[in-house]
Amino acid sequence: MKDNTRLAHSGRRKAWSHGIVNTPVYRASTCTFDSFADLRRALDAPDSGLFYGRLGTPSQWSLREAICELEGGAGTWLYPSGMTAVAAVVLSFAGAGAHVLMTDGAYEPGRTLCSDLLPRFGIDATFYDPAAGAGALQPLFRDNTRLVLVESPSSMTLEVQDLPAIARLAHARGARVLADNTWATPLYCRALDLGADIVVHAATKYIGGHSDLVMGIASANAAAWPLLKETSVKLGLTAAPDDCWLALRGLRTLPGRLKQHEQGALELARWLAGHPEVAQVLHPAIADCPGHDVFCRDFRGSTGLFSVVLARGRYEDMGALLDDLELFQMGFSWGGFESLIMPYNAAQLRSERRWAAQGPLLRIHVGLEDPEDLIADLAAGLDRYRAGIG
Ligand SMILES: *Cc1c(COP(=O)(O)O)cnc(C)c1O
Repeated sequence: MKDNTRLAHSGRRKAWSHGIVNTPVYRASTCTFDSFADLRRALDAPDSGLFYGRLGTPSQWSLREAICELEGGAGTWLYPSGMTAVAAVVLSFAGAGAHVLMTDGAYEPGRTLCSDLLPRFGIDATFYDPAAGAGALQPLFRDNTRLVLVESPSSMTLEVQDLPAIARLAHARGARVLADNTWATPLYCRALDLGADIVVHAATKYIGGHSDLVMGIASANAAAWPLLKETSVKLGLTAAPDDCWLALRGLRTLPGRLKQHEQGALELARWLAGHPEVAQVLHPAIADCPGHDVFCRDFRGSTGLFSVVLARGRYEDMGALLDDLELFQMGFSWGGFESLIMPYNAAQLRSERRWAAQGPLLRIHVGLEDPEDLIADLAAGLDRYRAGIG
């Protein structure tokens, strides 16, 4: 079955939905048992049916099953946010005395988890340069390295990492690999097939797709799933049924939305590449961008998020560009139907090393609007910027 077909049909067991097309919201804490024998059967196998709301109802089961099939995983768990999913994976595979390797191109809260929180649990983190290639990782492994965190492409600076090569290195050292696949979604990158042991998505982004929910998802291969599941259950992590319903609804239309995000972003990236105020476009599907060859090998498509480095001016000058935009809005997150734009300075982009580019960085999420309108909006903003810096 092809992915688009799978997306229309997965997670729709009649026993769970009673024939309603998209599994409805089951709001539940308590589920009751008909007899003492039933209670004992449930205690022996809490997974075999309704047990207690935190362990899931058809609302969670449907979404888990749909995602798990799409990823080709052994199991999938849901979390109240993308960040909790990352944290649950780290706490599953690294304990006191362990060491983890974290990409220095990762989403900032993921980096601060490693730099600020993990030391309190006796876990050491080393940040590696996502642009240096898998070979540069080799000397960073220690005897106690348990987990390598990969985010490819980096969600700010868009470096593509060689996941199969990183996985080979990690597995040779007895470490697991976590791939944050939020940018590509399960449709455009099969991270488990490429060697990741666990793949995480902020469903907040493209899977939800409408900027109206916060949720995380982690799927694991057969070797990693039992410990991930046990840790996630013991930490009490779950996702709310209303959010599961929204995410499952979003998932059904993911293929069509992604195509439109992809086309719009490519059109804007190509236009920006020819603009005199733009020094560099960071979009892995554009031929001269870093990691393009690995991107072509490992990904089936690109999505709506990319960045540009401006040729002149400073972060402090960006108000002229940003304040009067009519369609692009400033806001954290991305993956919704609406276009967003965010300015970053070098200090915000890395934890341990300096981001190399001179100019300020603009991160752009291309929504589902018509690219011509978006280009006109950016063109006017860049004109104001040029006038502002003289
Ligand atoms: C947004 C994001 C997260 C975190 O997701 P939340 O749901 O906001 O916690 C993790 N990784 C990446 C790459 C993201 O963009």
